[in-house]
Amino acid sequence: MTFCFTGIRNFPKLWKNNPYLVVGPGHFYNSLFLKDYNGIRNQQKLFSLKTASPQNTKAMNLLTAKTRYRRKEDEGSNKVSSDFPHLFAAGAAKKRSQMNPQSKDHALPPERNVIQLPTKPLNSEQWDKLKEDFKGKANFENWVITQMAHHNSSIDVAKSLLAWVAAKNNGIVSYNLLVKYLYLCVFHKQTSEVFDVYEIMKARYKSLESGGSTLLIRGLIHSDRWREALLLLEDIKKVMTPSKKNYNDCIQGALLHQDVNIAWNLYQELLGHDLIPMMETLKAFFDFGKDIKDDQYSNKLIDILLYLRNNQLYPGESFAHSIKTWFESVPGEQWKGQFTTVQKSGQCLGCGKTIESIHLSLEEYEFLKRKILRDVIDGGDQYKKTTPQELKRFQNFVKHSPPFDIVIDGLNVAKMFPKARESQVLLDVVSQLAKQNLRVLVLGRKHMLIPCARWRKDEMEKVQKQASCFFADNISEDDPFLLYATLHSGNHCRFITKDLLRDHKACLPDAKTQRLFFKWQQGHQLAIINRFPGSKITFQHILCYDTVVQTTGDSWHIPYDEDLVERYSYEVPTKWLCLHRKT
Ligand SMILES: [Zn+2]
Repeated sequence: MTFCFTGIRNFPKLWKNNPYLVVGPGHFYNSLFLKDYNGIRNQQKLFSLKTASPQNTKAMNLLTAKTRYRRKEDEGSNKVSSDFPHLFAAGAAKKRSQMNPQSKDHALPPERNVIQLPTKPLNSEQWDKLKEDFKGKANFENWVITQMAHHNSSIDVAKSLLAWVAAKNNGIVSYNLLVKYLYLCVFHKQTSEVFDVYEIMKARYKSLESGGSTLLIRGLIHSDRWREALLLLEDIKKVMTPSKKNYNDCIQGALLHQDVNIAWNLYQELLGHDLIPMMETLKAFFDFGKDIKDDQYSNKLIDILLYLRNNQLYPGESFAHSIKTWFESVPGEQWKGQFTTVQKSGQCLGCGKTIESIHLSLEEYEFLKRKILRDVIDGGDQYKKTTPQELKRFQNFVKHSPPFDIVIDGLNVAKMFPKARESQVLLDVVSQLAKQNLRVLVLGRKHMLIPCARWRKDEMEKVQKQASCFFADNISEDDPFLLYATLHSGNHCRFITKDLLRDHKACLPDAKTQRLFFKWQQGHQLAIINRFPGSKITFQHILCYDTVVQTTGDSWHIPYDEDLVERYSYEVPTKWLCLHRKT
């Protein structure tokens, strides 16, 4: 798609902010270089990819902070003691991967640049020269504008590129170039420039593709023409469901201009499309709420907190601060917030209240059991995981055994300490559990019974004396058996595997079942944290409380994500916002 200017006449309109730009081949823009381009003037080099922008500085600072944080982590990783992160604790997976000597840093291959990007506007001849030097196969203009967008070049440089292109092509600038230029205008918050591009696009196209509309929405919401962003949203709706970013921008625009009703209506519409709102959007409602004294508005904010609860979502650090500030601003209610942690016992260190239990209700448990047995184990693709004969043999075995207390993924546990003999590790684990009078089931493979250096016959015999064992064919997957045996034994039964069963979580049918599975897993998966074989094996304490947004009416407990801690989807935050009313 190309954008065609009706004539050179229209062109100066777009570039009206730049009096130095005279369009026409062969023109020089000498005077341009004398202008101060946001500090770029001081850079002596004409071409450089390292254009410093405030955003980059901020990103660098964050990166430095992250590096510092990780370094601190690394120092602590040698000692494996009580401060070893919980299996489901935020950042634990990251730490585990850092401890694993096999994991390598995935260094990116060095960037191959065909030419260097200009940091200052170029004249036609300079652009011609640059194009000659360009050795890449791609279209030169597209390549340059794409790189400029990547590196957030100043819009004057991009403008000189577009002027050169237009001059060469009878005023025709491709849509692609125009949209990327728009991206830069939005990025640098050049509102008047956004208006100009918007006018040109409106004049040329009946409707825009969603990328262009999205940028225009973002560019318009800060201006007094923010209502036009809502019209663009309507245009998007004619062909597709707008993105959560589109809604976020429009809601922010409405709040910025004090139009609360529009903001809430857009929010309802977003939920109606089954989109999960951006945390930024939710935070905006809390931030705006500080200045509003209105019960209806307050109730809607409480609904947002309940939405977080029902969807097992956690606010980020700055959102948590916004929530705290809002509560403390409610007149006459005397809320007091503090950032804190929860003790192993499930008691909040801030107020001493007990956090909700991790245990599933009988109803929830039965629901989850039914779903897993049907979707994960039978699931129509049982042949992929095991043979129907073997599944039948296993189901009979479980049916005729009394319920177990602990189910062990034998192969997985035995391989936990690479330097130790497998059968020895397995025996250590089983003996220790058997001493506590627990009924143990070991799930294994047939090959474990063939004596060899790693699987000693005497040790495997001792294992079989202290635990019930089921040995599957060497090709079977262990997980479905593990889940089946554990769930079949009842809500008290726990399991041991190093595996985090993520594949199974993914094949569960809906969000509700996935949440229940995650909760059940947190409450039932035992982790071995002792990393020194030969000594006594230590199990990690299972969290007895549920990490979820919760309330008792006069208190709220809200887990939140810290900015500098990377949390995997199967981990939970360790930091909490505790809010309670002074009575
Ligand atoms: Zn508390």
